[in-house]
Amino acid sequence: MWRAKEKSDKIQLSFKYRIYPTREVEEKLLRAMQVEAKAYNSLLDTINKARKEGKKITPKDTQNMLKDLKIEGKELVYSKALQMVNNQLWYNINALHEQKKKRKKVGKLRYKKIMKVINYNQSGFKVVGDKLTLSKIGEIKVLFHRPLEGEVKGVIIKKSSTGWYAIFQAEVEKKPLEKTEKVVGIDLGVEKLVTTSDGVVIENPKVFDKVERKTKILQQSLSRKKKGSRNYEKVREKLAKLHEHVKNLMSDYIHKVTSWFVEQYDEIYVEDLSVKEMVEGSESKTLRKHILHSNLSKFMSYLSYKAERAGRRVVKVDPRNTSKTCAKCGYVKKDLTLADRVFVCPKCGWTVDRDYNASLNILRAGSGLPLEPVDRKPLLYIPFSEGVYSKFLGRSRKSSS
Ligand SMILES: [Zn+2]
Repeated sequence: MWRAKEKSDKIQLSFKYRIYPTREVEEKLLRAMQVEAKAYNSLLDTINKARKEGKKITPKDTQNMLKDLKIEGKELVYSKALQMVNNQLWYNINALHEQKKKRKKVGKLRYKKIMKVINYNQSGFKVVGDKLTLSKIGEIKVLFHRPLEGEVKGVIIKKSSTGWYAIFQAEVEKKPLEKTEKVVGIDLGVEKLVTTSDGVVIENPKVFDKVERKTKILQQSLSRKKKGSRNYEKVREKLAKLHEHVKNLMSDYIHKVTSWFVEQYDEIYVEDLSVKEMVEGSESKTLRKHILHSNLSKFMSYLSYKAERAGRRVVKVDPRNTSKTCAKCGYVKKDLTLADRVFVCPKCGWTVDRDYNASLNILRAGSGLPLEPVDRKPLLYIPFSEGVYSKFLGRSRKSSS
């Protein structure tokens, strides 16, 4: 989970690492999460009750109640972490409220058996070497697979199906990169991850073919098991691990790709995905498509904060007709469908890869450059296994400025 928030010459980033608590520490973590859940449920109860009676209740009110709250094991949880439970509860309440406003069918907030995170905000933690020390918990080994930078403002401990993670929230100085005088239009997609106006294609990892087969087998096996049975849970856990594995692989990959873009280009033009989704609708039926779709927003978020930090510009352009317009003559081919992988222009006869054509239109929309004839270049495919750094240097379009 990487997030970016603007703040003058600094930027707030999240760094996620695997952590390896000892058995004893793990028990403390789990216990703290259970106590947190009790606090959560108790506050939720209080809020529900107050509202039923028509009384106004605020986050401040419930926060003040925390210190008098009688729950077993409360002394096992760092007091500020408990306050964050209150924040989480109100965040959930507001999120539910927002959904209701959009007239979505939503239920009530549910009680929790266990909270999935422990949130150390501002205090109660210390990092020395590869050890993280948490107040009330103890020392935990961290695997820093990439360096932790900046001033750490908080740590979130998280349990997932594959293990434990620490997410450090740090304030990092911006590091402007030297200008390269290059700009690029990029088309993000589900078929290919990225196609650029320089004719570079970065494919989605091949790992999906294998994973999809495995997933199908597991899902079939799951459907034959009795829901809630021990075997059912076992298979379900396996499935969850598989998903997490793919997610991690993709995150890593997207980090590499977005870093490369930010190093190479002063300005990067992309489609505004929030609009695109409205245009194309969600057609993510398979797991593959689902994951690939979620990658697009991940790609955008990584790209945005990296650009922000490096003093680069990411420009979002209107996605309407980027695929349907001929980049050579400007003709709009209204009947182009998602299945058409090649764009053939009925007016000028230009025949070109659909996504490359789109990337050229995105470049034009972003840079504001006038329509100019484009020669077809063979696309350069970059497969997942070969990395992205060394492969396609030197293929670039100079900016007009
Ligand atoms: Zn044309």
